[in-house]
Amino acid sequence: NLSLKLDKAFKTLKGTGKITEINVATTVKEIRRALIDADVNYKVAKEVTDTIKEEALGRDVLIAVSPGQLLVKITQEELTKLMGGTKVDVNIKGDPAVVLISGLQGSGKTTFSGKFASYLKKQGRQVLLVACDIYRPAAIDQLKVLGEQIGVEVYAEPENKNALDIANNAIAYAKKTGKKTVIVDTAGRLAVDEQMMNEIEALKKALNPSETLFVVDSMTGQDAVNTAKTFDERLNFDGVVLTKLDGDTRGGAAISIRHVVNKPIKFISTGEKMENLDVFHPDRMAQRILGMGDVISLVERAQQTFDEDEAKRINAKIRKNQFNFDDFLSQLEQIKKMGNIKDLMGMIPGMGKAMKGLDIDDDSFKPIEAIIRSMTPMERENPDVIDGSRRKRIATGSGRSITEVNNLMKQFGDMRKMMKQMNKMGGAQKALGNIM
Ligand code: GDP
Ligand code: MG
Repeated sequence: NLSLKLDKAFKTLKGTGKITEINVATTVKEIRRALIDADVNYKVAKEVTDTIKEEALGRDVLIAVSPGQLLVKITQEELTKLMGGTKVDVNIKGDPAVVLISGLQGSGKTTFSGKFASYLKKQGRQVLLVACDIYRPAAIDQLKVLGEQIGVEVYAEPENKNALDIANNAIAYAKKTGKKTVIVDTAGRLAVDEQMMNEIEALKKALNPSETLFVVDSMTGQDAVNTAKTFDERLNFDGVVLTKLDGDTRGGAAISIRHVVNKPIKFISTGEKMENLDVFHPDRMAQRILGMGDVISLVERAQQTFDEDEAKRINAKIRKNQFNFDDFLSQLEQIKKMGNIKDLMGMIPGMGKAMKGLDIDDDSFKPIEAIIRSMTPMERENPDVIDGSRRKRIATGSGRSITEVNNLMKQFGDMRKMMKQMNKMGGAQKALGNIM
C-alpha cells in the first residue's frame, strides 16, 4: 500500500528539525520505492525523486512546517508537474465536431463514449453517438442501451461492415438533424494489431476529428504505457482517458503515460455507471497517489448530487477539524444517493485504507449506521468521550459486536487524523476554499 509506505518514508523525517542530505536521502529512497510499487516506471520514479531531493535541500524549513510535511508538499508538487501541471480541456470544434474514441478491446471505450455523451449533453450540446465497432454485434446493442439510458441518439448500421462508411453516413445524418457533436466509438482488439491500427488511422484521416481520445485501462500497469506509445505513434492522439480507477488507486499509470507519450490525460473513469466520470486534474491525482483521498473531486461531485448547503457545512467542519459522527452519518446518506460507493468512499481521506479489500454496497453501511444511531447526540458530536463502557453500551444498543464498534471508532479516528493532516498542509484547504 503506497500511502502506508509513504507514511513510513515521511516518518523518518518527523521530529528532525531540519532537512539534511542524510535524512533526505533515506526518505527519497522510500518515496522512490513507493512510486515504483504504484506502477510508476523506474526511470520516471528516479527522475522525480532526484528532483524532490534537490528541491528539498534548497528550501528552508519554516517554523510551522516539519521537514516531513515539507517533503510531502514538494512530492505532491513534483507529481503534479509530471502529470502536466494543470488540466487540459477537450477540443470540441466543427460542424459537427467529431470526437474519435480509440483503444484496445475492453479498455472501456464504449462505456466512456456513453459517459462523455452524457457529460456533453449536460452542457447543453446536441450529441450523436456512432457505433463503429463492426466486429462484435453485441457492441451496437451495448451502445444503444447506454444511449437510451442517457437520452442520446445512437447511429448504427448493423448490416454495414465498413466503419468509415458508417462514420461518414453518421456525420451526414448529424448535419441533417442538427447534432453538433458526433462521438465515434470504434472497435478494439485484444492486442494491438495491424488491421485495427489501419482502420482507426483511416478513420482519423477521413473524419478529421477535433479531438481523438485514447482510452486505456489503468490497471494494466506497464502495458498501458506501451499501448499508449503504439497508439500515439500511429494516431498522434490529443488526449488520454484513464479508466477503471475505482477503489484502490493505481494512479502510477497516469504519471508514466504522461511522461512517455507527453499527451495530457483529460478524463478519468471510476466505475461502470454513467456518472462515474471526472475531468482529470493533475494536482488531485498527485494527492490521490499520495494516499490523501481525492477530496476535492468528492466535494465537486458531491455538489452535483448533494444538497449544496450540506456540502458547504461539512467542508467547513473538515477545515475546522470538527468532523463528527453526525457529519459522517449525513455523508453516508448522501453517498448512497450518488452511485459507486466503493469509489466514493475511497475519496474520503483515510477511508480508502480502511475500506481496502472490503466488498461494499448499500447494505455494508447498515452496521455502521446502526452503531452511530445508537450513540447519544452528545457522543456523536464529541466522539472523544466514547470510552470503553460507552462502547459496550453502544454495541448492545445497536446489536453489533464490541469489535465492530471498536473498528468503526478506529476508522473514524484515522479519517479525522488524515483530514487534520490535510488541513495542516494547507494546499487542500486552500483548494477547498477556492471551490466553495
Ligand atoms: P470497450 O471494449 O473498450 O468498448 O470496453 P467497454 O466499454 O465495453 O468496457 C469493458 C468492461 O469494463 C465493461 O464491463 C465495462 O462495464 C467495464 N468498465 C468500463 N469502464 C470502467 C471503469 O471505469 N471502472 C470499472 N470498474 N469498470 C469499467
Ligand atoms: Mg466497445
